[in-house]
Amino acid sequence: MSRILFATSEAHPLIKTGGLADVAGALPIALQNLGCDIRIVLPAYGDVLERYKSLETVAEFYLPGTAGKIILRATQLSDSTVKVLLVDHPAAFARKGNPYVDEHGEPWPDNAERFTLFCKVIQLIALDQVQLDWKPDLVHCNDWQSALVPALLKQIPSAPPSLFTIHNLAYQGLFPQSTFNTLGLAPALWAPHALEFHGHLSFIKGGLVFADRINTVSTQYAKEIQTPELGYGLEGLLQHRQHVLSGIVNGIDGAVWNPQTDTLISQNYSSTTLSKKKVNKLALQKLYKLPANKDALLLGFVGRLVEQKGIDLIIELLKTIEDLPIQFCLLGTGDKQYQQTLTKIAKQNPNQVGVNIGYNEKLAHQIEAGVDVFLMPSRFEPCGLNQLYSLRYGTVPIVHNVGGLADTVIDTTPETIKNNTATGFVFNQPTIEALRQSVDQALEIYTKSRTWQKLMKNGMKAQFTWEKSAKEYLNLYHEILKAQSTRQYTSYQNYQFNGRTGF
Ligand code: ADP
Repeated sequence: MSRILFATSEAHPLIKTGGLADVAGALPIALQNLGCDIRIVLPAYGDVLERYKSLETVAEFYLPGTAGKIILRATQLSDSTVKVLLVDHPAAFARKGNPYVDEHGEPWPDNAERFTLFCKVIQLIALDQVQLDWKPDLVHCNDWQSALVPALLKQIPSAPPSLFTIHNLAYQGLFPQSTFNTLGLAPALWAPHALEFHGHLSFIKGGLVFADRINTVSTQYAKEIQTPELGYGLEGLLQHRQHVLSGIVNGIDGAVWNPQTDTLISQNYSSTTLSKKKVNKLALQKLYKLPANKDALLLGFVGRLVEQKGIDLIIELLKTIEDLPIQFCLLGTGDKQYQQTLTKIAKQNPNQVGVNIGYNEKLAHQIEAGVDVFLMPSRFEPCGLNQLYSLRYGTVPIVHNVGGLADTVIDTTPETIKNNTATGFVFNQPTIEALRQSVDQALEIYTKSRTWQKLMKNGMKAQFTWEKSAKEYLNLYHEILKAQSTRQYTSYQNYQFNGRTGF
């Protein structure tokens, strides 16, 4: 039975800002079900400590160069027996609010120090140096907040190997060189073939350069990040490591996202009782103060209001719907500019547009269950979860042909209608014209109720389970462990990049 330490900066339901939390809240349970002895390690944020009062203390220790004691506390993930180790160091993590940004949306000024501390603690756990009497065979790191771990582990011959998962390459953990000098990291790590990135410290390079294997959350995104368009200047490094880079699409947590059992929606339904979905539509229209109208095509969006998600395209679309039988409801937070523009549009057109600025788990479920169409015009999308939830809820997604959206939604064409594979609408260019064309196509097919039902049912049949994805992760772990047992230790000073620099 493989022992896996799963390092993450968020995990549902303890703390969530985005898709990583959904992955970290479900994949470890699926891996445990497949026989892994898996433990999650997560910072003990203020909000987590406040909600989880009776935590067990499992270790106490000091880190060289860090003032104050570090306490490892433990809880369990949801109803499972997956252990969560919480790194409790109040100066770094006990503040209230978002894990990464302050109340003005600005990154916490000490993020580099906070997540370096997190990574150093993970290193100690990985080496079994905190008296847990448990040494992982492999450390699975996720995104930049835990990306220094592979670099730290590569310094030590007896350290376990690591897997680094990229959930979003746009977030890299970049800091000035002066910050690097204060973090107590090995000076040799300041090099273009290590953590340096054009004169800055890049956390994510710790994972991209030093992890034994790298994966991302869809096959398509694994290819896209090797191109200048989506590689953020890291495409050279990723091309160089393409032999250890792969994609595994995320699953969805069937216990949380299932229209048959979802307790957060007005009316449960399944693919055999689809007409009941309309009850959720009417409830949603009421909630958003839109006119009750079963026949209007109700579009929805849930997510971060940032450029990545194509919010500008949605805004442009909303300016063109006045003469159409369309309604739209949105839930999200993000850039102030988008929030203001969307709120203004809703005020100007209250019969067609409803906007809720905020984070609301229950409303997210109600939207998935209530709308006819879910919009995801993302400029890039590593995996995307909402299109998967939509498919599960018989809600037809309209998506841009990128990343995980391309991997998971099948466009509606005469052929895919005929062979019962069509699940949504996929457009190729991130332009308002292309989005509008898909919306027009959806409007047309929506009037053909039998074909529309086909799309809904095809989507509901699609299997994006964590069990399936977890099996792929397990294979990847086994490959890493197998390679590790036959390979000699290479210290990072010996890493060769065929003369390439400037990664
Ligand atoms: P990303 O990780 O880029 O934010 P994903 O689609 O992978 O996007 O995952 C986003 C997750 O966060 C989904 O589960 C989505 O429902 C949820 N989410 C995003 N914004 C909100 C919000 N305002 N209220 C409730 N849930 C939200």
